[in-house]
Amino acid sequence: MSTHPAGPGEIRLIRFVVLFSMLLFALSLPFLRMPLPQYPAFMAMYDAALFVVYLITAVLLYSHGHTLRSRALMLLADGFLFVSVLIVPHMFTFPGLFAPSGLLGAGRQTTAWIYQLWHGGFPLFVLLYVREAQREREAVADADRPRPSIYRHIAVSLLASACALALALSSDAMLPALMQDRQDYASDRHWVIWLPWLLNMAALGLLLRKRPQAALDLWLIVTLITLVLEVSMAALFNNARYDLGFYVGRVNGLIAASLVLIALLIENGRLYALLGRAHERMQQRADELERRSAQDGLTGVANRRHFDLMLGREWRRAQRSGLPLSLLMLDVDFFKHFNDRYGHIAGDHCLKAVSAVLAGCTRRASDVVARYGGEEFAVLLPDTAGDDAQLLAEAMCAAVRERAVPHEDSSVSPVVTVSVGVATFNPAPGMGSRATVRSAQLVDAADHALYRAKDGGRNRVVVADASAVICQMTGSAR
Ligand code: GH3
Ligand code: MG
Ligand code: MG
Repeated sequence: MSTHPAGPGEIRLIRFVVLFSMLLFALSLPFLRMPLPQYPAFMAMYDAALFVVYLITAVLLYSHGHTLRSRALMLLADGFLFVSVLIVPHMFTFPGLFAPSGLLGAGRQTTAWIYQLWHGGFPLFVLLYVREAQREREAVADADRPRPSIYRHIAVSLLASACALALALSSDAMLPALMQDRQDYASDRHWVIWLPWLLNMAALGLLLRKRPQAALDLWLIVTLITLVLEVSMAALFNNARYDLGFYVGRVNGLIAASLVLIALLIENGRLYALLGRAHERMQQRADELERRSAQDGLTGVANRRHFDLMLGREWRRAQRSGLPLSLLMLDVDFFKHFNDRYGHIAGDHCLKAVSAVLAGCTRRASDVVARYGGEEFAVLLPDTAGDDAQLLAEAMCAAVRERAVPHEDSSVSPVVTVSVGVATFNPAPGMGSRATVRSAQLVDAADHALYRAKDGGRNRVVVADASAVICQMTGSAR
């Protein structure tokens, strides 16, 4: 956020806030000294709200500063922490809030000086932030910067607040009088009351000179403008506590306090949205990659790698469930002749057509049609008994014939045909524990049946002898 530019919506919001604050100031200017009813509860609300907002802003800025290794953001966070800590004694020492003359051994000037020191201290931190941000922009890349210590920054900020508090607590004896009594400001205004105003203006000037684009800097500018207006209304041009300037100035102060927090929250929302979108894109790419890694490039059916994976998986599942697992091995008849006659490109088209026909014949989501290699295909049929597998094999054989891809050099048919070997694994009861029976034996059995189909004249289905398959398996299980 310290570098990202403000969006058009954000700029509109910034303009609106500045206009609103200016308007509030202009409308109340003639009436700033008008006395209003005293609501000490307003002060309690104002201080409590400010405390929470400044503290949360400090925490967010510390975390951003730590992540981005930015000492500049840490210094800004220090400013917010400094204010939030000073607000607590401001509330306790305010006369009439917890005790008629305030708590913590407050003198007549204490609360006014705390206000003075917080409004003068905050722009000092902003000045430090601007200088450090400039240095960071000109220096090495973010990743090479040493990570600033949050604890050291917090300690320094707390120390600054403690010093300011100590100064304010001894203000009756050591500092110029700002209050005449508990309510009225001193009639003879000392020039020090202009210091916070001047410091805020100086920080504002420095920030504006940078011609900032970053959203954070724009929001900081608005904060400083609003703070200048607050100090003008609530300390310079009004007369006493609980007059109109006192109240309206503090409303402006509340707005000022919330701005950087609003900016940080907008930024957080934006980052979450970006993160969500990036995650979605990554997930889609990962899914796509996984899909492609399982697919045969030419035909689009499963590749050998995926077939081996599924065979292992379904084999174990069949052993656990006791349900039959069937396998068809198919080979295109006289495909070498096809290539020789029509060319390799036509051969590729033929393989695509055959695989599409095979895929179209399967009915269940769990059936896997795969290109086993060259012009050989494998179809894995979980939970399918030998009879059903044979029916499907016959259907596939017929469907390839009906697809009618011409093959004039085939001695069995004028169109492309396939030969199919079928084998079924019927897990015997209790076989689950005999894990040494391997899935490769099912492939061997189907392959053997396929060769018998070739030997028997091609363009046909041969089923491996069920007992032979099981015998073979149990035999090697020993
Ligand atoms: P049979 O009926 O005994 O199976 O005879 P066949 O000619 O089909 O058997 P063989 O295994 O001798 O030939 C397979 C041919 O398939 C050889 C090879 O050039 C061809 N082939 C393997 N993969 C591809 C491919 O991706 N594209 C094309 N066009 N041809 C392929
Ligand atoms: Mg072959
Ligand atoms: Mg062949």
